[in-house]
Amino acid sequence: MDLQNALSKLDALQRRQLAYQHAMGLIDYDGATAAPSGAAANRGETLAILSEESYKLATGPETVDLLDALHENREQLDETHRRIVETMYEDIDEMRKVPMDEYVDYQRLLNESQAVWHRAKESDDYALFKPLLKRMIDANKRIMAYAKPDMPIYDALLNRYEKGLTREKCDAFFGVVRRELVPLIHAVSEAPQVDDSVLFGSFPLDRQRQLSDYLMDVMKLDRSHVAIAETEHPFTTGFTKYDVRITTHYHEENFSYSMFSVIHEGGHALYDLHPADDLAYTVLGGGVSMSIHESQSRFYENIIGRSREFIGLIAPRLRELFPHLRDVPDGALYLAINKAAPSLIRTEADELTYCLHILIRYELEQRLFDGTLTVEDLPAEWNRLYKEYLGVDVPSDKEGVLQDMHWSAGLFAYFPSYALGSAYGAQMLHVMKQTVDVKEALSRGDLSPINDWLESHIWKYGGLYDPGVLLEKALGMPFDPMYYIRYLKEKYSEIYRL
Ligand SMILES: [Zn+2]
Repeated sequence: MDLQNALSKLDALQRRQLAYQHAMGLIDYDGATAAPSGAAANRGETLAILSEESYKLATGPETVDLLDALHENREQLDETHRRIVETMYEDIDEMRKVPMDEYVDYQRLLNESQAVWHRAKESDDYALFKPLLKRMIDANKRIMAYAKPDMPIYDALLNRYEKGLTREKCDAFFGVVRRELVPLIHAVSEAPQVDDSVLFGSFPLDRQRQLSDYLMDVMKLDRSHVAIAETEHPFTTGFTKYDVRITTHYHEENFSYSMFSVIHEGGHALYDLHPADDLAYTVLGGGVSMSIHESQSRFYENIIGRSREFIGLIAPRLRELFPHLRDVPDGALYLAINKAAPSLIRTEADELTYCLHILIRYELEQRLFDGTLTVEDLPAEWNRLYKEYLGVDVPSDKEGVLQDMHWSAGLFAYFPSYALGSAYGAQMLHVMKQTVDVKEALSRGDLSPINDWLESHIWKYGGLYDPGVLLEKALGMPFDPMYYIRYLKEKYSEIYRL
């Protein structure tokens, strides 16, 4: 075969695929930000047609022949092209196993499910969402049975977000989390409490928007390639390294909710903006897995954003924007921001109790998929586990089982990414500190050394390596959750004087 000719066909194919993804992603993004509420059905039709075209392109005979030929000759390719071919070959092989009708129907269901979840959450009406959730679970079971017939269902779901991740690995990780963090959380809740009242008041939205701009500047996000919009549920979407969107949600009564959303989503955006140039417009151009993605966002949100030095750095700007904070010293602000207390809402949870929110979801979704929990019993089980792990009573489904958009968007087995990502980030900090003076960089207000480390160890590789390989390469050692546990113990022992 003419290898050069095949490679230029491969390049053209990826660009076409990315063009479909760009278009579909923008329509999705528009649906979450600016589109009028009556546009959902129309959007669903458009997306179904585009996804059908994209499916045909990905599984058509020309693509299959091209990838078969390249896969057979992969030993002759350079590392990047070999990886591209292997990734696409595997993806397409799985995609072809799913019948096209099933695939297209699922795109429609996805759109309907998200729209219904929005209404159900607004009106606190789980019964409205329940049949859609059931259909989503059934559809995911069928699709996984086609795509990964040899894998246990929950492992198959986990592998969509992190290749190589298994229930066994997650169980081991969450076992450490439960054993080590539950006693620490108990000790913290028995210690004298931190006063966070300074975070509450009235914070005009235009001032909060200025704060978002300032934070994006501090993080060195290139505004010619990343834009911010407002949504119900903050998220990031990176179409290519040249077009990344983040979103936030402003709460007038507390500026810190949006502030940490911007820092979190900004962490995702930095990762999406910085794969090496030769990976742009290829299937390796985005982040490699959701755990690694969340390691970047949660590293920024918590390890950087909730550190004493970072708070000291941004405090003058906060006082300028919000006169309410004029007389609050840096130390009091740092404590308020790091108050740890069991709560109802995952996205507003503090760094310490956060993992228990994930643990609850991890346990519930496994049972939803292995058939030991029905959608009828889900809200009661949700409430029972919140009481058991966090000691809180759930007053409504809106603040309970309906709070997250994930299940409505088919993101089953996604939640472990947040907890694993947090733990990866803590170990990255440990390694980063061996060559970077993190505190000094933050105090000086120049985050370049931190970004440079992340870029050279994580960002630039895009999807070039499997997540486990990338992580071990970046860390220079295997993943060990005890770095995360030690980080939390040190930080919260100091704050709560344990
Ligand atoms: Zn995230």
